[in-house]
Amino acid sequence: MKPKILIVEDEPAIADNIKFALETEGFETVWHSCGKDVLALLSDEPVDLVVLDIGLPDISGTELCRDIRKHHTVPIVFLTARSQEIDRVVGLEIGADDYIVKPFSPRELAARVRAILRRTQSVSSYASKENLSKAFQVDEDRFQISYFSEKIDLSRYEYKLLCIFINRPGHIFSREHLMDLVWDEPEMSMDRAVDAHIKNIRRKLKEIKPDLDPIQTHRSLGYSLKEDL
Ligand code: CA
Repeated sequence: MKPKILIVEDEPAIADNIKFALETEGFETVWHSCGKDVLALLSDEPVDLVVLDIGLPDISGTELCRDIRKHHTVPIVFLTARSQEIDRVVGLEIGADDYIVKPFSPRELAARVRAILRRTQSVSSYASKENLSKAFQVDEDRFQISYFSEKIDLSRYEYKLLCIFINRPGHIFSREHLMDLVWDEPEMSMDRAVDAHIKNIRRKLKEIKPDLDPIQTHRSLGYSLKEDL
């Protein structure tokens, strides 16, 4: 399945350029020329990434970004006409993943989009926060996960692994897939590393809820997180 990118940009010529560059790189695109309906659209039809113009006719891109962040973990790339450092700080503070200054090369944008997806797809996924299990709360800014309201003390790999499960309850992930998603250099690691980290996560979850074992082992297939937690 092609990754789907939502482009929110009021200038048709710029939107066309972006569409063309992204589609050439193998992405599917949806274009919206204004900010209203974007939230509704994201809830109805999840996308893999949003390219968001800061200067929209009906709502400011920064405001829209904040609204999106309240409900969705989808990566956001800002398009801005201003190059001041302040934009960068503001953009990233309100939850954007990257920004690009106009005029920009559409190919550069496509390259950034690809890099962000590679970096984030594994962890933050396109699931909206409402879909996540109730037992877990993920604070992506602090790389912190709570389990039944109690913070779990996780290593970086444990955090990434658990995020992947939480974003897709019930889905069975093979060790190889988990390794690809989580490790920076999968070929340097061993399958057993996944098992070791899962074992640690299980132990930490058990310390909080001794009678519950939410991570399931599927013999010779991999691991999944129980649904309906
Ligand atoms: Ca604009």
